[in-house]
Order: sequence, then C-alpha cells, then structure tokens
Amino acid sequence: MLSHNLGYPRVGSHRELKKADEQFWAGTIGKDALQKVARQIRHQNWETQREAGIELIPSNDFSLYDHVLDTSLMVGAIPERYHQLLDGKSNKELDLYFAMARGIQVGNLDIKAMEMTKWFDTNYHYLVPEFVKNQKFSRYSDKVLLEFEDALQKGILTKPVLLGPVTYLLLGKEKDEGFVKTDLIDNLLPVYISVLKELASRGADWVQLDEPGLVLDLNDNERLAFQSAYQQIREAVPKIRILVTAYFGALEDNLAVATSLPVDALHIDITRGPEGLAAILEDRAFVESTKKLSLGVVDGRNIWKNDYKKSLETIEKAANILGTDRLMIAPSCSLLHSPHDLDLEKDEAVLTPEIKNWMAFAKQKLGEVAALSKLTGTDWCSDEAYLANQEAIASRHVSTLIHKPTVKERAARITEKDFERLNAFPFRQKIQLEKLKLPLFPSTTIGSFPQTDDIRQLRARLKKGTLTLEDYEKRIREEIISSLRWQEDLGIDVLVHGEFERNDMVEYFGEKLSGFVFTQNGWVQSYGSRCVKPPVIYGDVERPEPMTVKWSAFAQANSEKLVKGMLTGPVTILQWSFVRDDQPRKDTTFQIALAIRDEVIDLEKAGIKVIQIDEPAIREGLPLRKRAWGNYVKWAVDAFRLSAAGVADRTQIHTHMCYSEFNDIIDSIAAMDADVITIETSRSQMELLDAFARFNYPNEIGPGVYDIHSPRVPTVDEMILLLEKALKVIPARNLWVNPDCGLKTRKWPETEAALRNMISAANLLRESVEVTS
Ligand code: GLN
Ligand code: ZN
Repeated sequence: MLSHNLGYPRVGSHRELKKADEQFWAGTIGKDALQKVARQIRHQNWETQREAGIELIPSNDFSLYDHVLDTSLMVGAIPERYHQLLDGKSNKELDLYFAMARGIQVGNLDIKAMEMTKWFDTNYHYLVPEFVKNQKFSRYSDKVLLEFEDALQKGILTKPVLLGPVTYLLLGKEKDEGFVKTDLIDNLLPVYISVLKELASRGADWVQLDEPGLVLDLNDNERLAFQSAYQQIREAVPKIRILVTAYFGALEDNLAVATSLPVDALHIDITRGPEGLAAILEDRAFVESTKKLSLGVVDGRNIWKNDYKKSLETIEKAANILGTDRLMIAPSCSLLHSPHDLDLEKDEAVLTPEIKNWMAFAKQKLGEVAALSKLTGTDWCSDEAYLANQEAIASRHVSTLIHKPTVKERAARITEKDFERLNAFPFRQKIQLEKLKLPLFPSTTIGSFPQTDDIRQLRARLKKGTLTLEDYEKRIREEIISSLRWQEDLGIDVLVHGEFERNDMVEYFGEKLSGFVFTQNGWVQSYGSRCVKPPVIYGDVERPEPMTVKWSAFAQANSEKLVKGMLTGPVTILQWSFVRDDQPRKDTTFQIALAIRDEVIDLEKAGIKVIQIDEPAIREGLPLRKRAWGNYVKWAVDAFRLSAAGVADRTQIHTHMCYSEFNDIIDSIAAMDADVITIETSRSQMELLDAFARFNYPNEIGPGVYDIHSPRVPTVDEMILLLEKALKVIPARNLWVNPDCGLKTRKWPETEAALRNMISAANLLRESVEVTS
C-alpha cells in the first residue's frame, strides 16, 4: 500500500524562508541567495520525507510566498497593472512575483498588491486570482518543471502538485461584469494540459491535482466544470497518473462528481468527514472501477498523535472492499498547516514530556503515515511502534492533567438562563444611559496602544528573568497612567488601559488559563513570511485566578473617566489555538466561556462598568458548508452570551470584530446581544453598515471611522462624512465614534494625530446634531 504526502511546510524548520524573504525585500540579500535558501529547504524537505519512509514524495508544494500566486504565474493570470513589470526581462520574474504579493512602491511606481483571503477554513491566506472577461491564459512560470527536475537530480521521482484548475478558478474573483469564472475553464485547460504533457515527457508517473473545491457547496455549472475539465485532461494526457485530492471536508453531494472523474486516484479527508469513507465504499461505480483511494487518515491540521488502532481499523475496512493494492495512505491535507518538528521542543519546562508524548508535528506525521501503511494487513497488535502509540493514546485519555471533574460538572450544569442578561437591551440601555452618563456619540478606542520596542523589551526581559516582576509592574503602571492622562487630554469618553502587558490577545489569556500549553518552535505559515505560533488547548480549561482585574482596577482607580475592561472572547481563543480533538469544539469553547464569565463578573465587582469582549474570529469559524452554519453559529453565539451574561443591567458589554462581512449572519451578530459592537467599516466607506441597517440592528454600534492598518492620518472632514453616512442608517443615540481596530501596530505620533481628529469630528457632529434637534 502506497504511502504518500500531499505537501510539506515550506518556511523551514527554523523559519529560514521567512528570514530570507524579508532580507530579500530589504535588499540585504540578492536573488541568488534567496533561491539558495529556497533550494535548501526543498532538499531538506525531500530528504526528511524519504527518511521517514514516504514512498511518493510531492514536489512543487514549496512556495516562496503562496501556492495560489504560483499558480497564477504558471497560467499567466497576471493582472494588467503589473504588465509594466513584464517587459521581457525574465530575470525580473521575482520582482513581478513579490509585487503581486505585496505591492510595489519605488520611485513613481506605485502598484497595489493582490487581495488576500483565507484558504478555506484554515488560518492560511492566499492571494486571490483576478479574472477579467475573456481572460486569456498562457504558460508563464515553469516552477513546477524546475522543481520536478531538481528532485529528479537528487534521485527522487516526485509527484508534482498543482492546484487543480477548477478550484483555482473557484478561488478567484471576477473583476468585470458579464461572465462567470468557471466558464473560463476552456481557456485555462490548454495551459494545464501543456504542463502535464511536459511533466509526462520528463518522466513523471503521478501528478497530484488539488481540488478542495469538491468539498464546497457547488452549483450544477461548477460540477460540470469538474467533469469537463478532467475529461479533457484525460484525453489529452492519457499517460500520466492523476490523483485528485478533496480535503477539508466530506464530498457529500459532490460524491458522484468526484468518483466519476476519469482519473487514477481520489484522495479523501477522513479526519474531517469520516462518514465520507462509508459513502465511497457504497458507491458501486467507484468500487467496481480500478481507481485507487487515498485515505487521509493522519490529521494535517492538528498537533495530536494519530490513534493507530482507529486508523488501522478504518484502513482495513476499506481494504476489505477495495483490496490493499487500491489504497494509498496520506495525511488528510497538506502538512503546511502543521508546525514542523516536535523534536525541536526541547525545553521540558515549556512542554512537559507527558504532554509532548501526545503530540505529532509535520515530521512526526510522516512517520505515522509510513507506519500505518506498513502495519496494514499485518498482525499489528504486537508491533512495537503500535504498542508505543497506543500507550501514548491511553495515557492522554485518562490523564489527570486533562480531565478536571469540577470543570466538566460545571459545564454540564449550564442552563438557558446562563445565556441571558437579566433584562432585554432597551431596558438595559436606559439604565446604562443613567448610570454611565455618556454624551451623544461617545468616543472610545478598541483596546491596544502602540507597542513600542521599549514595551516589547520590558516583557521580553521579564520572561528572560533580567527584569524583576516588581520593576516590570512598576513600568507597566507608569505606561497605563501616562496613556490615561493622554486619553483624558484628547477628550476620549471611554478610556482603555492600553494592553501594554499583552503580547498577543490569545496568548495572554492562554498563559493564564489552565489546560493550555505553548511551544517554542510550533510556527505555522499564516501568509507569505508571516508565521503564527498558536497555543495548544490540551485539557479542561479553568481560570485559576483573575487574569486582568488587577490592571483594569488599577487603571479605573486612576481616572475619573470610565475605563473599559478588555477581554478576548471564547470563540476567538478557540479559533486561534490548536484545539483538543477528544471532545467537540463546542464543549471546549463553553469551558473557556465559563472562565471568561468569571473574569467579567470579577471585573464588575472591582468597579469596572464597561467591559469589552473581543470576538474578531467569530466569522472565520463558519463551516465550509452552508447547511452546517446554523449549528456553529448557535453555539458560538451561545458561548459569547455565556461569557457576557453574568453581569447586572447597568454594566455595559462591548464586543469588537475586525471583518464585518456580516450580511449572511447579521441575525446571529444581533443575537450576541452585546450592548455595543465596534466593527471595521472604514475601508468600505461604511458600505458594510448596510447589513446592520437592513436588519434594523437594535443595539449600539461603533462603525470604525478610520483604518488603523495604514499610517495615514485621516482628516476631520473625512471622518465627519463617514459618521454622517452612518447616521443615515443608525439612530443617533446608538452611534459610537472609534477607530476600526486596536492601535498596537501603529506609531504614537500618527495615533495621536488621528485620534485628535477623531475627537474633533465627534464634537462637531454632536454640535450640529444638537443644534438641529
Ligand atoms: N482589543 C484588541 C486590540 O485592541 C483587539 C484586537 C483585534 O481586534 N484583533 O488590540
Ligand atoms: Zn479588530
């Protein structure tokens, strides 16, 4: 039974690519040095996979920035604004590539980057292909051929990986009116066919075409595109063996389309859609064909060890029907979404041996794939690797580190009442108006202030032990005080303490809650050179002690104005972590919600009257299939409400979200029942507010009046204009004035100038509205 891999992390085990990319952009290294690092990573990856015993190793899974961008270059989908960079200078290909990825601003050249968005439901971001009417495609980059040849020279006959033509189109955006992107398939296919022919002529045996589009809701047109594409490919390139991969979910209603494609093998993701295997094994046409089935049994998106018993039983179920010759074993998806190598986690104080023994990163997952393929059909029960695996699984299962009966019991006692504030919003609003005495159009910020090097150093030195806790806290107190004075000076109505003590909005809470661990090197690519190191939720979550009360109470004690308490919400903490896979995500989220609820109540007790619970990740948690949305949204909203509802009517609960494409889920946003929601709308010139207006959103809203992602200082007039626009759809008493996100990535001078203008805008608007009413 063939073991294979779908893709390997590209940034290098020590983030070598990140460093090289950034040096290249800064001009400190040249093109050759960058390519050298890239080649070393590829070679290392192939070597690692060969050593792990993977039989069919991928190539072209590497990328200097993004594999969707690589595909756009392969097929020559280069938007017109970059054509001036083409100019026949082939050695400028890298400049073109990075200009498309990041934009370019040199001399009088100023070209915007391509748009970036999330790759399915992962935290990886890709560059969105841009299509125009009658879009032409022609082969431009030969990267796939070069990498195939490179591996061949090292004696490895790889399986080149291409983003499949239909998914590539599905991921793109129509920039003109009057056409549908999947109709471009006939223009696109000749490029794919010519690449495949050339791969075949150079000796490629297998090629992998990634079509995760097959796990999405598709219309008839899109399904037809799959059928006609693969029909044409098959006819034009009969020799090469084609593996189509469908990962991140089950095929469900696309099963018949997928199994009928004239290809040699189909890969399915068993970890995300276990029922999908049964469906395929019942599909007569597939069973009676000679096609191979690749079983994605090892989770490519998590850090837990595979349970060999479960996997082997699954594989053998399939083998009984198809025979082992027709099976292939693989990770569920590309290992791009896993950190590199658990062996690099050497500090036992950070990751204890007991917990480490439950984990597997990309390199370890390769070993699992190879082991499963070797064990299938043998008398595995007495195999050493099998026994060690089962021992680790059993130890995790019963560990007292994971299971806290008191936490589970408390979660089991949650009732409907716990999701409800005491009274409905209109009643609360009246009380809050009385108690908080806020003016019309109250102003606030989203939480963080510029994180200067100085502040970062403080936290780093505390961690290293070169600064005492006492000195550290003294410095943080000073920062808080000076930011309070500064906000009072500007005339902001609801102040924040500035989040100087926080490195990251999830990590800060993860470090204070039980049930979380952190890694030293568990980096995962988020986009381009940017990597994140998500916390790991391994056990029942509990709050051993208050997490933010000390700082918030200190800040409130030092100002006559209201100071907001600042928390990260349960869904965002879940969404931005690696989550335990031994209980439903909902259960883990509710445990976090209970911990946040306790914090909210403690903040109220400490005299904090306004508390913000950030949920920027609530939307990105939406499942890929629409029919699964209802269930997710229900528990996600419930988790937020659970965290917020323990306070009195007079306490004002805020929430904040960065991406405000809420059209489809606006009713759920309203159901969160936050007294105030602050959102990002400035980039779209308040267009996104329409959803709130159409829905008649009942509670208070602060539509961000300026874009904090840019250092540009907005003028007073601009912001008044935006506020007036907002006033057309939001009642005046419900409108807040604030920037569209936290300010931690900005510098102080521009922050001060922008906020000063923002306050002037609020004041002017207040005057004009008060005069006319
Ligand atoms: N309170 C956080 C901050 O201001 C919110 C960050 C976010 O929305 N991503 O930094
Ligand atoms: Zn935000």
